[in-house]
Amino acid sequence: MTGAGQTITVVGGGLAGIAAACALADAGSRVQLLERRPYLGGRASSYEHPGTSEVIDNCQHVLIGRCTSLIDLYRRLGVLGAIRWYDRFTFLAPGVRPTILETGRLPAPFHAAPAFLRAPAFSLRDKLAIGRGLSHFLRALPPDTEEDFAHWLQRHRQTQGAIERFWRPVLVSALNEDLERISVHYAAKVFRESFLLSGESGRMGIPSIPLSELYNRAIGYLEARGGQVCLRTSVESLRPTPTGWRAVAGGRALESDAVVLALPFEAMAALLPALPHNAGAEELGAHLAEFEHSPITGIHLWLDREATDLDHAVLLDTTIQWMFNKSRLQPGRRGSEASYLELVVSASRSLVTMSRQQIIDLALRELALFFPGVASAKLIKAAVVKEVRATYSIRPGLDRLRPRAASPWPGIFLAGDWTASGWPSTMEGAARTGYLAAEAVSRALGHARSFLAPELPAAGLMRWIRS
Ligand SMILES: Cc1cc2nc3c(=O)[nH]c(=O)nc-3n(C[C@H](O)[C@H](O)[C@H](O)COP(=O)(O)OP(=O)(O)OC[C@H]3O[C@@H](n4cnc5c(N)ncnc54)[C@H](O)[C@@H]3O)c2cc1C
Repeated sequence: MTGAGQTITVVGGGLAGIAAACALADAGSRVQLLERRPYLGGRASSYEHPGTSEVIDNCQHVLIGRCTSLIDLYRRLGVLGAIRWYDRFTFLAPGVRPTILETGRLPAPFHAAPAFLRAPAFSLRDKLAIGRGLSHFLRALPPDTEEDFAHWLQRHRQTQGAIERFWRPVLVSALNEDLERISVHYAAKVFRESFLLSGESGRMGIPSIPLSELYNRAIGYLEARGGQVCLRTSVESLRPTPTGWRAVAGGRALESDAVVLALPFEAMAALLPALPHNAGAEELGAHLAEFEHSPITGIHLWLDREATDLDHAVLLDTTIQWMFNKSRLQPGRRGSEASYLELVVSASRSLVTMSRQQIIDLALRELALFFPGVASAKLIKAAVVKEVRATYSIRPGLDRLRPRAASPWPGIFLAGDWTASGWPSTMEGAARTGYLAAEAVSRALGHARSFLAPELPAAGLMRWIRS
């Protein structure tokens, strides 16, 4: 048993904190998970929206088959069955026949090639350029340098059509950033894992229940293993004790042998002055100051009739980028006469200063370009959720500033999507850092264990093409 009998405090009940807490509890530690909000899930959560009285996700969250540690966490919590998997994607452009990208019978990396060659969204020149571009990521990922992906596309002579209808829409939604602010290494990772490695790697998973229903399962899981979850508990300071650490939260003092800080980068920066000062803490503070947020906006619309029978679609050439048909994706909602759609705009800086009504008007206008029935449908209610601190920008060179689990304070370990995982700001990145922090805790307590899930193997010809 790892750290059996030892008490571990995990601060932050997002994906990273949940993953760390569940792994450590499974291995025999007594875990106390402290979360500031009244629910778990952090940036991936749902709540009753006051204006509409509907339970909405703060934003649609999706995963891909390559997210093995997140999938492992779902399996632990018994919620993997609530994820619906898709290997068929519809790309819509106004006035153009739909483009369907799907996995076919050919071996990887050619599994999506026949669908791609048929795609009406791209001209022959676009297809040749995209094929040439993707071929650079077949053998391995390029290193993280100072080059941004917009520059890389220019250097590799990509056509305007390829950029606007393939590279940009895929990357802006996967990495929540503009091409000029994306590291080539992480851009390549998205395309290699979504389109080249195997069909299973790139398939998309969508939760069929609200996010908090998924993640609040961790409460019962931890309690069944002798742990406790303290919601509405904000940690204000941490001080060393002769045997470990004391966390102070709302006037309460909670003692433990070790601590995992699973906070977003800005909350970690805010807590720094309440931790013992040392040279490592100063360096961490300087690195944290280099991280920047990128916003995502979710537009939730309830219409008096069904606008489309698609479950989801990528929307090209407009401000709105993805349509998720929540009435179809969350079967628990069926039966309501309204049709519920969520539209997502990633890297949504242009929407941040717009009013709620301006955003709804824009969304309805653009949606009608793809689904003409929307023009005559009645809007029953709507919600606009601007998440200005959605993710951090995965800028070129940022990786060298992302710390590993070991912190400047012995007995304290770091997790959170911004720490080193080899993944960008995603649920998988967060889950990996939680497992990595749990591994570091168990090593420090003298009971080395591994929690990270194995990678998915490459399939087809990619088994030999990989370097
Ligand atoms: C709008 C939006 C859309 C997204 N879409 C996707 C997607 O489709 N796919 C995907 O993989 N990822 C997506 N992401 C990113 C993903 O949600 C995050 O990368 C991931 O959830 C981060 O998890 P985390 O545990 O690192 O941090 P968080 O989720 O931020 O968790 C940290 C927790 O710490 C708590 N906390 C902060 N300070 C304290 C304190 N002092 N004491 C106690 N608790 C504290 C916070 O309340 C929070 O619950 C999206 C994010 C947003 C916001």
